[in-house]
Amino acid sequence: ATQEETLGFQTEVKQLLNLMIHSLYSNREIFLRELISNSADACDKLRYAALDNDSLYEGDSELRIEIEHDSDAGTVTIRDNGVGMNREDVIANLGTIARSGTAEFLKQLSGEQQKDARLIGQFGVGFYSGFIVADEITVRTRKAGDDASSGVEWRSRGEGEFTVADVERERHGTEIILHLKEDAQEFADDFRLQSLVRKYSDHIEVPVKMPRTEKAHDDDGNEVEGSEVTTWETVNEATALWVRPKGEVSDDEYKSFFKHIAHDFSDPLTWSHNKVEGKLEYTSLLYVPGRAPFDLYERDGARGVKLYVQRVFIMDDAEQFLPLYLRFVKGVLDTRDLSLNVSRELLQQDPKVDRIKSALTKRALDMLKKLARDKEAYQGFWNTFGSVLKEGPAEDSANREKIAELLRFATTHTDSATQDQSLADYVSRMQEGQDKIYYIVADGFNAARNSPHLEIFRKKGVEVVLLHDRIDEWLMSHLTEFDGRKLVDVAKGDLDLGDVENEDEKKAQEETAKAKEELVKRVKDALGDEVQEVRVTHRLTDSPACVVLPEHEMGYQMRRIMEAAGQ
Ligand code: ADP
Ligand code: MG
Repeated sequence: ATQEETLGFQTEVKQLLNLMIHSLYSNREIFLRELISNSADACDKLRYAALDNDSLYEGDSELRIEIEHDSDAGTVTIRDNGVGMNREDVIANLGTIARSGTAEFLKQLSGEQQKDARLIGQFGVGFYSGFIVADEITVRTRKAGDDASSGVEWRSRGEGEFTVADVERERHGTEIILHLKEDAQEFADDFRLQSLVRKYSDHIEVPVKMPRTEKAHDDDGNEVEGSEVTTWETVNEATALWVRPKGEVSDDEYKSFFKHIAHDFSDPLTWSHNKVEGKLEYTSLLYVPGRAPFDLYERDGARGVKLYVQRVFIMDDAEQFLPLYLRFVKGVLDTRDLSLNVSRELLQQDPKVDRIKSALTKRALDMLKKLARDKEAYQGFWNTFGSVLKEGPAEDSANREKIAELLRFATTHTDSATQDQSLADYVSRMQEGQDKIYYIVADGFNAARNSPHLEIFRKKGVEVVLLHDRIDEWLMSHLTEFDGRKLVDVAKGDLDLGDVENEDEKKAQEETAKAKEELVKRVKDALGDEVQEVRVTHRLTDSPACVVLPEHEMGYQMRRIMEAAGQ
């Protein structure tokens, strides 16, 4: 080894390593899934690069992953003939974490260990998970197409620094050698490794192989001395999961595939697998995760589907195929309608992309509609992703009604802060003569619930939707109707309760207004320019007065957002 160099891990890596070693003890076996997943990605990348230049295969186009162990030495080796890395790649990929929002995320993680283990699942631990079971890792790699002399060896004990050196390497691709900790020797075992491959990596398209050594037998069935032959046997199913017919894929297989593509520890809430032929030809497999990723609200957080063209991997996080308000949906899209050399730039110009996007959007909304039949599961979904879905009506007017059906709110019906009532629920409870859906927006749930604006509604038994999420006013400015009924802000403009009020009441109100003209004038004089107008109101039953905004005025929440934005 020459050109040896010792470098420090980026701070974020050090923090991550520290967390992993201390909080993932109960889930140690996931290291194998992560390393196989990286090898499979590396094979995908080589296959893609070789489309233009098949000399990159260097005569070895049978992509595969090999797993070996040595129980005497206490090592497990994961090897692939994928794309490999050069020195620069190694330093960038195995010394830093490039994902945006990482530093922010890790800062939140420093609490008790229990919490950490849960949160870290949102992050995807990747390569560094090797250090859960190993006290030293050696990586040998060479980029496909480079000279044998430009191999690289990376070594680290996971304690803050690593070394890189140049080495000779005949094969392209990457080999990762885990030097198992004293208490992790159990993984240097055929049976254990095989069952982990089947458990976590069955659905990976690249074959995962393990060696089997046998002695030759003579005609009498006796072993022949010194005649050992090693054959490499494929351990996993090794066909792309989404290509298989729905009926042949088990729930467990769907779940473990989700964990592979979403870098998630926990099960998905639901999924939808579809094969479409005809004008558009594609297969999609979409998932709703069980928990939010750490970068759900990051501007450039990961989103979108894994894109394949005719089973060839093209790119991760292809965000062109789903709208922003469905950014929590994970999955795979495989299509014949795009060319193999499609790039992110080309995707933006291809009209077929828009057609696939609107088809996938429908699939995703249908999947949520189905999920909504299971109230408890849907509530879990709503609590996690509801505020993202609320961006929908503004972004996607074509599907506004469909999205509106999926929204859940707190209302005066339950008077609880839990957002679990649909607009359809509300409509089914409307009073005779009521033709509008009433709502109020406030800073917090209690401010909404205790607002004096609600007094008359409570008295009349008319339900009001209670809104207080940051996004709610934005949502309501794009959601003006549901099921043919107008949505009306009770704090704005004239209050019209429709036919809920009878003629006698209206008459009485007019008489009161007349009788109090003098009072109204005095109040108006006293307040001067502070108000636009002073009126007698029938909204209130207990409070003496309240402030009302003109009908087309920006609401309090929007004003605050605009102020914060320096407007
Ligand atoms: P992720 O897979 O989410 O990108 P990882 O921590 O698992 O994060 O891996 C970091 C990076 O290291 C990968 O993106 C890849 O560029 C590189 N890498 C890891 N394993 C391999 C491998 N077997 N072959 C080639 N590159 C690899
Ligand atoms: Mg990875």
